Formats: sequence, structure tokens, C-alpha cells
Amino acid sequence: MSQSSSTDRLTHYQEQILATLKRLDAPISAQDLHAHLRQVQPRLGLATVYRGLEILKIKGLVQSRAAVTGEALYSRVEQDQHYLTCLQCGTSTPLTLCPVQEMANQLQQSKSFKVYYHTLEFFGLCSPCWEQQEAKS
Ligand SMILES: [Zn+2]
Ligand SMILES: [Zn+2]
Repeated sequence: MSQSSSTDRLTHYQEQILATLKRLDAPISAQDLHAHLRQVQPRLGLATVYRGLEILKIKGLVQSRAAVTGEALYSRVEQDQHYLTCLQCGTSTPLTLCPVQEMANQLQQSKSFKVYYHTLEFFGLCSPCWEQQEAKS
């Protein structure tokens, strides 16, 4: 259960990416993350942020999910959070629990595949958007 080994060989930038994700504690796009990081690293390029995020993903430290806009949102792997997402206004409401945690734990013990994270999201209409549609028809 040693997870510390994966953080051993991180570059300075990768460590900063992780620290920023931890501080923000909410999913963020690479562009917004870049804006945050540039406050302390003015010369940091967006490509470096993307590359850092990809490496951190492969190391099992960062996860991503796609927003309604198609944009990838990044967060730490520890942040197991699922959403109800409205297709009309794009609002994502967090679910209070993870319905697949037991399955995730079981897979965690499997020797044939190393599970880092999972995503689960429900799509539809939030109640204001749903009521708006009802009123129209
Ligand atoms: Zn909505
Ligand atoms: Zn979950």
C-alpha cells in the first residue's frame, strides 16, 4: 500500500501542479491551472502544464474528466467525486457518495490491472432547466 514511491521522481513543476490541485480542491482545466501556476512561475508554458498533467496521470496521481464543453478537468486521484451534470446549463452537482466504491476496492486487489481512478457521471436536466422545458411545451 506504499503510494509514496510514485511521488519520488517528480519534477519541480509536477510538484507544483499537484500542490495547486490540492490547494484548489476542485476540478480545474489545464488553462485555469496554468493561470494559477503563472502567478508563481511567470515563464511557465501551457505545454509544460499539459505534459506535467499527462505524466501525473500515468503515475496515478491525477485524474481527468470531460466537462460538457469537452474540456478536460483535472483533479487529484484522492478526490473521488461524482456529478449530476445538466446538459442545458452545464451545471455539475456533486453526488454525496460513490456508488461504485466497493467494486473499485475489489478491482484494487486484482493483480491483472492497476486501477488508479474511475469516473461516473449522470447527465440530464437540472430542475430549473427541466421546469423551463415543461413550461415551453
Ligand atoms: Zn440546467
Ligand atoms: Zn467513485
